[in-house]
Amino acid sequence: MITASAVSTLEQILSRYEPVIGLEVHGQLLTRSKMFCGCSADYIGSPPNSNTCPVCLGLPGVLPVMNRVAVEYTVRTALALNCEIPEHSKFDRKNYFYPDLPKGYQISQWDMPLSRNGHLSFTVDGEEVRCGITRVHLEEDTGTLQHAGDILQQARSSVVDLNRAGVPLMEIVGEPDLRSAEQAREYLVRLRQILVYIGVNDGNLEQGSFRCDANISLRRRGETELGVKVEVKNMNSFRAVQRALDFEIVRQGRLLDQGQPIAQETRGWVEAKGATISQRSKEYAHDYRYFPEPDLPPLQIGVDFVERVRAGLPELPQQLMERLQRDHGLSAYDAAIICAEREDARAFEELVAAGVPAKTAANWLMGEVARLSRESRTPLQRSGLGVAGLAALVKLVEGGSISGSTAKELLEELYLPGGDPAAVVRDRGLAQVSDQAELERLVDAVIAENPAAVADFRGGKEQALQRLVGGGMKATRGRADARAVTGLLRDRLAR
Ligand SMILES: [Zn+2]
Repeated sequence: MITASAVSTLEQILSRYEPVIGLEVHGQLLTRSKMFCGCSADYIGSPPNSNTCPVCLGLPGVLPVMNRVAVEYTVRTALALNCEIPEHSKFDRKNYFYPDLPKGYQISQWDMPLSRNGHLSFTVDGEEVRCGITRVHLEEDTGTLQHAGDILQQARSSVVDLNRAGVPLMEIVGEPDLRSAEQAREYLVRLRQILVYIGVNDGNLEQGSFRCDANISLRRRGETELGVKVEVKNMNSFRAVQRALDFEIVRQGRLLDQGQPIAQETRGWVEAKGATISQRSKEYAHDYRYFPEPDLPPLQIGVDFVERVRAGLPELPQQLMERLQRDHGLSAYDAAIICAEREDARAFEELVAAGVPAKTAANWLMGEVARLSRESRTPLQRSGLGVAGLAALVKLVEGGSISGSTAKELLEELYLPGGDPAAVVRDRGLAQVSDQAELERLVDAVIAENPAAVADFRGGKEQALQRLVGGGMKATRGRADARAVTGLLRDRLAR
């Protein structure tokens, strides 16, 4: 039955209910080998089940050997997220049956994780958000299943690939401190950025090396008691997370309006439908019958080790953004965009070190370079031109040797193959026309050839001037100094 309240919009529901959201993020660690064996952790592209051994296949009689680098990377992450590192920690068996888990249990951490009590702070719409980090713990990844047929429910057959089984996996459990889909999205963006900056994870949502599950419940505004929570899975982009959570807010809000109960369950986001669908009822911790892993010794994490890892932490995104604002006068907005990827921030600093003014460097990186990088799927650092080539090009514009439009054309042309911008300018005679007499002749010709635009401008149509400037740029194939042409045109036409 559909009642009037059953079709409330997101805004209407948000005016009555407060969403309570907590995220669980899984990140594969960039170690060379797997968590408990010597197989490569870089499994993408290997033939199915080739990157395996008796340990990660779960064969009887084998013993796991702990990957120390994975422990170090987890501690590094925990410290970057302001966590405490307890001295004692241990691994546990999480028991469940699934075809991608050959041992019948996953080695994980239950009551004594490697870290706890951290937080991540960020800003959304001018509002400061501080999300608690319950814990960062270490476990092993499972294999993968491929289903033939309908991926939703009616698979006709499934095959298993254990190449991924045993890859070190870090779980970052967030407190339910997020209050909107936007906050959840921003939390994930910031978290991914930190993991990539500190070099423990490649941040690839599409391939699932960085993945997120969300717990979400609604409660009436003003209430403090938590509602029944639903777990949402299968979101493999930031946009999907935001859409899935907004969908759940509306779904749960409408049920609550109708006085219907919310089922505690796991739901999967189906991108094609733009909806979550029920997958199974939610397990509780006791369903997993956790017990200490008998084949691994308890971990003792010394203060010295923790301090060594802390001292080795690189500059974090927030610190870098603040430094670029302080040292180079960038706006908070520009600094956030430049620092989104560590490579871009590095390119920015290299351009400035090469003598390019900070704001000019930021504009090139955020504008033309960002576009070419996206379109060619090649970041500046790996392009033929490189940061040094871009610096040389920008300095030609800054010194008045070439016009901004010539520089943009050269950037596009040299971006992938590379080349010396100054040599190309010399060889092709692309140098900017800035000789006064030549510019005056150009402006005279433009005025003579465009009587209609001249009449329009004199009649008060300011835009007509742009048509005239455009004519001048076209006549010189973009080599004229546009600002000088504009000034000369205004001069002449005012007479
Ligand atoms: Zn193995």
